[in-house]
Amino acid sequence: MKWRLLFIISMALIFAHGCGGGGSSSSGGETAQLSFVRSVFSDGVTDFSVQVFYETGAEPYVGNIGLTANQTWDITKSSYSALFSTHTGRTITVPSTLAQMTSIGTQNQSSWSSSQLISLGSTYAQTSSATQSKVAVIFVKGLYEGNANILGLHFTGYPFVFVFKDVVTSVGGDPVSQRYVEQGTVVHEVGHAIGLVNLGLPMVTDHEDGSHAHHTTDTDCVMYWAVTSKSNVLNSLADFITGNQLNLFGSKALSDGRAYHP
Ligand SMILES: [Zn+2]
Repeated sequence: MKWRLLFIISMALIFAHGCGGGGSSSSGGETAQLSFVRSVFSDGVTDFSVQVFYETGAEPYVGNIGLTANQTWDITKSSYSALFSTHTGRTITVPSTLAQMTSIGTQNQSSWSSSQLISLGSTYAQTSSATQSKVAVIFVKGLYEGNANILGLHFTGYPFVFVFKDVVTSVGGDPVSQRYVEQGTVVHEVGHAIGLVNLGLPMVTDHEDGSHAHHTTDTDCVMYWAVTSKSNVLNSLADFITGNQLNLFGSKALSDGRAYHP
């Protein structure tokens, strides 16, 4: 039973990451993905900006992480600062308060289809320029195709990703763990959007998991497949949580990001 469940989850993830989905035929897909990834890693980019949108009732966590001085969104900011550390002259812009994020009201979806999500993302994601790369992170209530195990999602070729807040909450754990689950989902899905693990970003050494396309074999990296699976995420992030770690990328993913200057 457990293996059957894992299989279904894996198929859902492969579909989402390997397919442009059923949205507009004028965008998405492999060609758009490769083009976007090249633009993000270009040395002409002076700002990499993560823009956050949230449905009412799916507000992202903000504020301090436990008793530390770390802010919740420092996890995303530190992870991408580490990934782009050789892209000199580039700022990493990440909001840290709800006031710096955008409310999108109530969407009233208990179960989202691919085309509904792509439509929502296309409504809010902004276009990048030669100097400013933008990825939208959209927090929604409800599930992806009724699957209560999927924490986040990216569709190949689109500059936006989704976080399923109800699934984040259902993982449980203390407020520190909850923040790591949510931020881990953000960093993982944005990682897909900008091509990590053979989704447009070349690998310095092959670390793609043969059983989970576009995920790493490195269990100490946020791009490990189990990070966005409800039943596996706390175990996968345990070392980051106990170490108060802010950068969630493993050494192989970091090498890939630092080596690519198209
Ligand atoms: Zn993934």
